[in-house]
Amino acid sequence: MNEDNVKVHFVFHFVVLTSKIQMAGIYIHIPFCKQACHYCNFYFSTSLGNKDNFIKALLTEIDLSKDYLVGEKIETIYLGGGTPSQLSIEDLRLITDKLQSVYDLNELKEFTIETNPDDLKDAEVIKEIGTLRVNRFSIGIQSFFDEDLKYMNRAHNSDEALSSIKRVQDSGFENITIDLIYGTPTMNDDKWKQNLDIAFSLNVPHISSYALTVESKTSLEKRITKGESKPVDEEQSARQLKMLMNEMRAHGFEQYEISNFARDRKYAVHNSNYWFGKKYLGLGPSAHSFNGSSRRWNVSNNMNYINTIKEGKILFEEEVLTEAQKVNEKIMTSLRTQWGLRIAECGVLNAELIQKRLKEIDSSHYRLENEIIKLTDEGKLFADSIAASLFIEEQ
Ligand code: SF4
Repeated sequence: MNEDNVKVHFVFHFVVLTSKIQMAGIYIHIPFCKQACHYCNFYFSTSLGNKDNFIKALLTEIDLSKDYLVGEKIETIYLGGGTPSQLSIEDLRLITDKLQSVYDLNELKEFTIETNPDDLKDAEVIKEIGTLRVNRFSIGIQSFFDEDLKYMNRAHNSDEALSSIKRVQDSGFENITIDLIYGTPTMNDDKWKQNLDIAFSLNVPHISSYALTVESKTSLEKRITKGESKPVDEEQSARQLKMLMNEMRAHGFEQYEISNFARDRKYAVHNSNYWFGKKYLGLGPSAHSFNGSSRRWNVSNNMNYINTIKEGKILFEEEVLTEAQKVNEKIMTSLRTQWGLRIAECGVLNAELIQKRLKEIDSSHYRLENEIIKLTDEGKLFADSIAASLFIEEQ
């Protein structure tokens, strides 16, 4: 999967906004990858042995969960993973045909597929993906340099990184997002700048960019522990995040969320809806769902997922959110966006508490405009700890 999905799996949501027609999203997790990237902690298998059984189970799950978003209009579909581009066009068509048969997709605005550069070699396949109503490609580039790609154990090389973007563009798609990772020990500041310059020269309207993080139980963590890989340098990551923000601004990109940048307001609708607290249904192993008051997450195991669905059941865990959790998730997600945290939306008593706690935060880290807290560039380096210091307690 593209890192863009730290995002998708990592489910933060808050109080549902009200509007006349509620809009919702569908996320589908495709749990297969060609090879394991060293830093990745998402759920996937590198064997396609269970692929046909997975597709069968997924089609059944679409039926079984058709009432989860009852009364909602489907605004976005997001095929993530894992690596959706590991599936054949026939498999993808089975999934989209099923979705069309179960849901009214008349209001569908955005249909994204996550892809890896090494799966985008055939222009005919790319065009066929377009016939499935997919209108946005997310390409897991990560770096345009072989040394970084090898360090991360990505399955593609720098030539494929470049040619895949051009091929998708030549196949008629303008709505493209690419992922880039900074902070790898193989990447000095000069190389990071070159990566960004290459990205700007390709004329894509959206870029997601993340610092390399060492997650527990990943191959990267083991390699660092054994001394086979240099550790990640937090100062380098902070410096490269600053470079990223400055370069993006200079090239006309809005940083509408800490890790997401768009030209001409080409914001990712699906991911933005997570941040705005809209409902979504997650299908496939490890996928998360949110219905406005509780969240649930499917089992992260292909065989357990498939076998339970054969019995007509979906294996998931569920958590009903407390009022404090809803407010804290709102604080966490809103502060990461350019729209900021509207204090009044946290409730009267909580608003007083937040105002009080705000005074204890370094004033160079935020701006307060019309009772909306927005982080400065400096504050964005400490977004998580600033959010945590504003969190409210359970009553
Ligand atoms: S392509 Fe790499 S980063 Fe993406 S899900 Fe697969 S292993 Fe993880």
